[in-house]
Amino acid sequence: MVDAHLNGVRNAIAAGWQALERGGTALDAVEESVVVMEDDETFDAGRGSFLNSEGKVQLDALIMDGATLRAGGVGGVERIANPVRAARKILSESPHVYFVAEGAERFAAEHGIPLCKNEDLVTQREVERLREFQSSNKKLDPTYFSHDTVGAVVLDSQGNIAAATSTGGTLNKTPGRLGDSSLIGCGCYADNDSAAVSMTGWGEPIMKLVLAKWTADRVATGNLPEWAAKEAMSYLHRRLQGHGGVIVLDAQGRFGIAHNTPRMAWALKTSNRDEAGIQR
Ligand code: ASP
Repeated sequence: MVDAHLNGVRNAIAAGWQALERGGTALDAVEESVVVMEDDETFDAGRGSFLNSEGKVQLDALIMDGATLRAGGVGGVERIANPVRAARKILSESPHVYFVAEGAERFAAEHGIPLCKNEDLVTQREVERLREFQSSNKKLDPTYFSHDTVGAVVLDSQGNIAAATSTGGTLNKTPGRLGDSSLIGCGCYADNDSAAVSMTGWGEPIMKLVLAKWTADRVATGNLPEWAAKEAMSYLHRRLQGHGGVIVLDAQGRFGIAHNTPRMAWALKTSNRDEAGIQR
């Protein structure tokens, strides 16, 4: 699925860039980028996500604004095709930061986000993947098992940064399990004074280390995002034998991309660079 991943991240970059060209903010651009990947069945976000042990899609997402530290997150939603859109509504239209499960779905519906059926988010590929896994007695190997969470980090012309992360979580997860992706400072973080960070990988080790905030703090104390991204992956492994990937961007436009999994699809665009890859 290498080509599908590369196409997916290229499409996401194009959507984010268009949002900026239309005069949108970093927040608008991360939202639009993530929506494209949620809609793309290739990834573990939105439709096509991994299924939980009962065969349902349960989605988590977070969006965060580095200028104001406002954030919006949803956890365990089953009837929202684009959870990042619901997260954005929470950020902009609610005094709260998180909504989960039915409460999140109700909030989304009341704010104009259409609800779907859970079956609309389930693909045949994932039904077969779950069936095969449940009949095999195998344990997931967190090094090699696909972590297909999606995320974006953006700097806009106002000098503001933002981050968003969206996921279906891990294959065969117990219903109700929440991963790192929607937790502030774990799978996602943004602060103009440090960095915008989005992560993928096995969620439990990432959340125990509050790794997105850990990474941003390394940038705040004067380290380059590139160094902080690599250091985060080695810390994750050194401390908890964890695996994953990370994208980091500061308010000067310096960025880092790192993973300690065999591959991670990424794309980047600046006024003079337009690149994508599957390894770093
Ligand atoms: N981080 C996600 C989770 O644990 C999974 C992933 O990145 O694929 O929910």
